[in-house]
Amino acid sequence: MTARLLIVGPQGSGKGTQGVRIAEQFGIPAVSTGDMFRAAVAGGSELGTQVKALIEAGNLVPDELTSAVVRDRLAQADAAAGFLLDGYPRNLGQVADLDAFLTGRDEQLDAVIELSVPRAESIARLSLRAAEQGRTDDTEEAIANRLAIYERETAPILGVYAERGIVDEIDGVGTLDEITDRIVAALEARGLARAAAV
Ligand code: AMP
Repeated sequence: MTARLLIVGPQGSGKGTQGVRIAEQFGIPAVSTGDMFRAAVAGGSELGTQVKALIEAGNLVPDELTSAVVRDRLAQADAAAGFLLDGYPRNLGQVADLDAFLTGRDEQLDAVIELSVPRAESIARLSLRAAEQGRTDDTEEAIANRLAIYERETAPILGVYAERGIVDEIDGVGTLDEITDRIVAALEARGLARAAAV
C-alpha cells in the first residue's frame, strides 16, 4: 500500500508537526524542503550558501533548484513506496515540476491535506515559535513576507489539486492529537491505510 501525500498550510498552521506525525502513521518519509534547506545552511554546504540569504528574508528559493533537491530526495529508496511532502510544491511552477517527475515514474499524489488555521492564530503561533526556537526567518518582517507569499503563490496550488478531487480541508485548530486524528480519518476515507506496525 502506497501513500503519496502533500500537506499544505500557511506558516504557523502546524503542517511540519502534523506532517511528521502522519508520515509516521503511514510508514513513509516526511520530506520537508524547509528542513532540507535549513540543514544545508547549518552544514555549510554549497546548497546552504546558495539559499541562506533567501531563507532569512523569507523569500522563495528558485524553482529549478528546489525541484532538483526534491527530485533527488524522492529518488531515494525509502520514498519508493510513498512519501509526505511538506512545503513543496509551493507555487504553480513547482506543481508542474512535480507533475512531470511523478508522471515519469507512473505515479501521482493520492491526497493533499489543506490545514486551515485563521490568520490571527498562525501569527500568534509563529511569534511563539520565534521566542522558543529562534529561527532566523521568524522575524516580524520575514513572517509578514512569508505569509504574503503564501497567499499570493501557494494558496493557488490548492485550486489545481481541488480540480483533481484530491484535497481534504482539515480544521487546524485543536490539540495535536485531535488534528492528527482528523487528518488520518480523511485519508482513511480515501482508502489509504496506515502502516501495520503503528
Ligand atoms: P518552511 O520551513 O517550509 O517554512 O520553509 C522555510 C524557507 O525555506 C522558506 O521561507 C523558503 O525560503 C524556503 N523554502 C522551503 N520550501 C520551499 C519551496 N518549495 N520553494 C522555495 N523555497 C522554499
